[in-house]
Formats: sequence, structure tokens, C-alpha cells
Amino acid sequence: MEHETNLISENLQYSEQINPKRSSEFEIEKSNQILKSLEKYLNNEKLLSASSLNTYITCPVKFYFKHIAQIKTLPKDNEFEIDALKFGNIFHSSMEKLYEPFIGKIIKKDDFKDIKKNIDIVVKNAVLKELSNSEKAAEEGINKITSNVIKKYIENFIALDIQYAPFKIVSLEHSIVYNGIFEIKVKNESKKIKILSIFDRVDFKNNRIRIIDYKTGNDDLSIRSIDELFDSNKIKNSKKAIFQMILYSIIYKRNNPSFSFEPLLLKTKTIKQDPNGNIKIANKKLDSNSVDVFDNFEINLKETLEELFNSQIPFSQTSNTNSCQYCDYSNICGKI
Ligand code: SF4
Repeated sequence: MEHETNLISENLQYSEQINPKRSSEFEIEKSNQILKSLEKYLNNEKLLSASSLNTYITCPVKFYFKHIAQIKTLPKDNEFEIDALKFGNIFHSSMEKLYEPFIGKIIKKDDFKDIKKNIDIVVKNAVLKELSNSEKAAEEGINKITSNVIKKYIENFIALDIQYAPFKIVSLEHSIVYNGIFEIKVKNESKKIKILSIFDRVDFKNNRIRIIDYKTGNDDLSIRSIDELFDSNKIKNSKKAIFQMILYSIIYKRNNPSFSFEPLLLKTKTIKQDPNGNIKIANKKLDSNSVDVFDNFEINLKETLEELFNSQIPFSQTSNTNSCQYCDYSNICGKI
């Protein structure tokens, strides 16, 4: 299987239940072994995240392959080339490194002189880390150009921050992990599910908290209704960031009920044209007062979680074949 499909499984015993056939439709019943694996989420030995929940909503079988059978995709990329994933990693880790000295402190306009001086070295180190520490690869044509694009994006973000300063850096990606507890019913028993959330940055100014997520892709900033996030026929990759930010907002609000905040999606590609990064649901800006949105999201989330942990509901393939186009598991699934 490994050779033919570019996939590796850490848990090959599950492969007997997959029984893949080309052009086949199938469901995966929740065997005792699978229920045992799901139990780890109920015991909080393993944590769900916005990303794994999105995978489940997109396609339950895909969730099974990825998180229960733990079939991993072998890297398809060139170890020495900056692809989209590495691009995102380099941007995120560089921003974190540059602002790290200011966690818990007020960052002033003058501080950015030093921050700017560090861009070259911080990006260089992040590039090397992603390119297996190959100095030669880091200096090669396309990688050099891509590194310069990342530096340009960072400069754009810093220019905006200079205008916004002074402000306080409350937390960065790895400084605080905010977990959310959601109560669901499994076999009529109440269970508490912990969901992991990692905010790229939280900052504070004039009684206003900003929960910021940096995006290097083509993420949407608006949707018409919460339905679009929980319906496998409507969900798209570009909407996943909104799902993540509503979830993070709910979790942040629970941890800090008296704070006013705004979740923002700051996109590298459009930061100059749209420096605000506000998220809109049905044309209304998302912020700490969006109680209806949070309530509606939680109802849908609870239903999704209860379905995931329901032993009688098998993992089924999505009926939305658009989601299969770029699925890493299409070779073993055979849906398209
Ligand atoms: S190919 Fe389609 S049906 Fe199969 S796991 Fe991927 S998304 Fe699901």
C-alpha cells in the first residue's frame, strides 16, 4: 500500500477495515478498536482542533484515515524547495521570533527600528530550518526570490504595526495555549471535550483585544451563514479560517468573559488593500458581541461532535466530490 499510494500508516491494523476498491463507495463502521481510539478524545488524551474538526466536516472517512488510522502522506515536495506549506511556516515562525522579546510588554514605534534590523537573520534561519539546513538550497534562485517575498510581506505587516503602536503583545503562537471545553452527550452521558486553539497573536490597546491569525493563502473573510461551515456540500478550504476564528472567539470569550475583542484574519497577499482583516458573517462584523453567531456555531459544533462520537454512525465518504480533488487519501479511498 505504501509504495502504490504514497501513504504510510502508523496503525496498519486498521487497513483491514478500509478494504479499498477502486471507484467504490463505502462506510467504516465504528468497531471496538475505533471506539477505543475515539475514547482518547473523550479522555482528553488526544485533543481535537479546528483543523481536525474541519477534516471531519469535510469528509468523515478522511478524518478516519488521518486521525484514527493515522495514515500519513509521504512528502511529495522537494526537501530543498520552499512550497506553500514551508512558505507559511517561514512567515509564521519569523513573525513570532521578531515579536517574541515583547511578550507581555508594550511595543512602541521606536522598537520597530530593532525589529526591522532582525528581519534578514530571522527569515534566513527560518528558511534554513525548512530546507534541512542547506545553505546551498537557501541561496538557490527560486528559494532566494521566495525568501525576499516573505521579507516584503513581513515589512508590510510591520509598517501597519508601526502605525498602530503603541500596543501590548499579550501572547504569541507558542506562549499561551487557550483550550476550550465543550459539553456533549455520548450514550446519554455528559462528556467534556477539550478543543485546542493556538492564536498566532493576541494584542491589546485602548481596551481593545485583537485576536490575530496570519494567513498566507486565499482565505475568505466573509460567509453568508454558519451553515456554510458545517455542511459538507458547502464547505471549502477557503472558509476554514473563518471556522477556526469563530471557534477561537468562543474559546477566548469563555476564558475572558469581560473583555471586548475582535478576531482578525490578516492576509499576507492583501494586507495593504485590507489592513483591517475583519471577518463578516451575513454582512455583520464578527466581534465579542456576536452572541447569535457564537450560539449558532456551538449548536452545530455540538451536533458534529455528538455524531463523531456516536458508535452507531459510521464514518462515511463525503458526497461532495470537489473535496476529493485534492484529498491526500483519494488513492486508497477510490471515491473518484
Ligand atoms: S477521496 Fe473524497 S471521499 Fe475519499 S477520503 Fe478523500 S475526501 Fe473523503
